[in-house]
Amino acid sequence: MNPLLEKFDLAPFSKIKNEHFKPAFLKAMKDARNEIDAITSNSEEPSFKNTIEALEFSGQQLDRVSSVFFNLNSAETNEEIQKIAQEISPLLAEFGNDITLNEELFKRIKSVYEKKNSQSLSIEQLTLLDKRYKSFSRNGANLSEDKKKRLREIDAAASKLKLKFGENILAETNKYQKHITKASDLDGLPDGAKEAAAQLARSKGKDSGWLLTLDYPSYIPFMKYADNRELRKELSLAFGSKSFKGDELDNQDIVLQIANLRYERANLLGYATHAHFVLEERMAQNPEKVHSFLNELLEKAKPAAEREFRQLEDFAKKLETIDRLEKWDGSYYSEKLKQKLFSLDDEQLKPYFKLENVIDGVFIVAEKLFGLQFEEVFDIDTYHKEVKTYRVYDSDRNFISIFYADFHPRAGKRGGAWMTSFKSQWKKDGENVRPHISNVCNFTPSTDTKPSLLTFNEVTTLFHEFGHGLHGMLADTTYPSLSGTAVYWDFVELPSQVMENWCYEKDALELFAKHYETGQVIPMELVEKIKESATFQEGMQTLRQLSFGLLDMSWHGADPTKITDVKAHENKAFLGTNLYPETPETCMSTAFAHIFQGGYSSGYYSYKWAEVLDADAFAYFKEKGIFNKEIATKFKEHVLSKGGTENPMVLYKRFRGAEPKVEALLERAGLI
Ligand SMILES: [Zn+2]
Repeated sequence: MNPLLEKFDLAPFSKIKNEHFKPAFLKAMKDARNEIDAITSNSEEPSFKNTIEALEFSGQQLDRVSSVFFNLNSAETNEEIQKIAQEISPLLAEFGNDITLNEELFKRIKSVYEKKNSQSLSIEQLTLLDKRYKSFSRNGANLSEDKKKRLREIDAAASKLKLKFGENILAETNKYQKHITKASDLDGLPDGAKEAAAQLARSKGKDSGWLLTLDYPSYIPFMKYADNRELRKELSLAFGSKSFKGDELDNQDIVLQIANLRYERANLLGYATHAHFVLEERMAQNPEKVHSFLNELLEKAKPAAEREFRQLEDFAKKLETIDRLEKWDGSYYSEKLKQKLFSLDDEQLKPYFKLENVIDGVFIVAEKLFGLQFEEVFDIDTYHKEVKTYRVYDSDRNFISIFYADFHPRAGKRGGAWMTSFKSQWKKDGENVRPHISNVCNFTPSTDTKPSLLTFNEVTTLFHEFGHGLHGMLADTTYPSLSGTAVYWDFVELPSQVMENWCYEKDALELFAKHYETGQVIPMELVEKIKESATFQEGMQTLRQLSFGLLDMSWHGADPTKITDVKAHENKAFLGTNLYPETPETCMSTAFAHIFQGGYSSGYYSYKWAEVLDADAFAYFKEKGIFNKEIATKFKEHVLSKGGTENPMVLYKRFRGAEPKVEALLERAGLI
């Protein structure tokens, strides 16, 4: 028997063997295809129920099998699982394409879409219908045959160019090696960084000396600690001129081509620019909104950034004889200034953050805010003995969710921290089917003599992922594809980032930040220091983020067809955001993988956007009390439980009474 092919509620981990996956995938895909065929061959007139809803609830077994498999591939993988993933992924991509290119299916969806106003659909149903329709139309389903053909050509050309863009940067990074033979050239570096540089030299066949490269683990510590200014300059220019040397690894022409193809694609589909196309499915909605957001923040953060820059330059000049602060000095002197201002290190804080205490803390916060109770249980099947399991109830003892927590690193777990689910939430046939949510992290494990003690960064990470978890656990929607974290991209970090705020509050810390040996609550002067150091040089960093956002919008929010000079265009976009003297040898765009290779085009603004949202939301709690039940209930009812059932701006305004304002962020960061 294949346990993945039987109906299951809790994932039956202990019964699953690797050989079960492939047949389960194949069978589940076949069933899903049959379900879709049944929709398209239905002789009744297309309706919301027989088309949109039927599609929504098709392929459920495939979803369950996929979530078990891909979660394992992230948290407990091995070569065999990776091999299955390589076999299955193209089949799943093909399955997805078969749906989005299914013309019969689109015809039915379009017919429902066109009469959407005459069917008395709920807001959630209208949202689902719109989402389904757009997943086809944004892919060209409404275009004539020749335009469809052009769209496919553009997509194929763009994906090749994106690949080449990334390959060029990688080749540039790998090409650069600086062999250091004088020990004094490494003065200032921590011993660990020196050792790593020596080891790297050995591994690259050098008999002696040290090797520096443009990989982050080598580059970042060098820029932060190395006293040798000339060498810092050399490395900084090498880093900043990647794929901008006019040779075969140059990306300037690729940048222009990608920007133009995206523009053409958007035009084909009836959008003014690529940014209009992307932002249609974002909380920000249009480029005008993003521009005014970035520029408002720029105007308000700039005085603080300039103040911080002068402070840094004065500090550097007092320390050494330099005539002006250059790009290769920033990280170096900032580190020194930070050490001077806050002598705060992780070892001081860790005793107050025993993992078990922090978990209790996040549960207490969830109880105080949302009335949730977490009960650890031992009868739920897991994929590893370290995984903890909980049943979650509300204050009326209604069952809310299953919560899995997998905290420590292992061979077979990828790095980082994330929230995921083994089963999403939906309502069908009068039943509210509850979700199975998981948090996976890589926290410092316990040792024979010490329990697991978290760094402060790990504490905020735990609260962050738990916030995503709450979004999943408290979901209360009808349709699974609109449930929990299935929201617009620039809205999804609100629940997670807002939870981090409680880590800085006295009233919250008193509940759990207790010394693991003495039980003493964390001293408030330490908390104050944490807060201050968290906003160190916030103005300069804000300006930097804004400059990237503006550059992104300059490539995607306007007609790029007249741009011929990448560097000149970039300089224009950066105008008003520069603190350091300009370096003609370097170019950001030719190595801006986020927007030209990854998925952040017209989306870079969302880093700051998300911060504004969480600061504005938390300011509401601060105003009324950080454990104020009324505000928490509003947050639960209008945000956490609603998933993607409505436009996020509408949801947010229902919670907050107004659109988010940048002031809350500026205040929290001490910029105004
Ligand atoms: Zn997150």
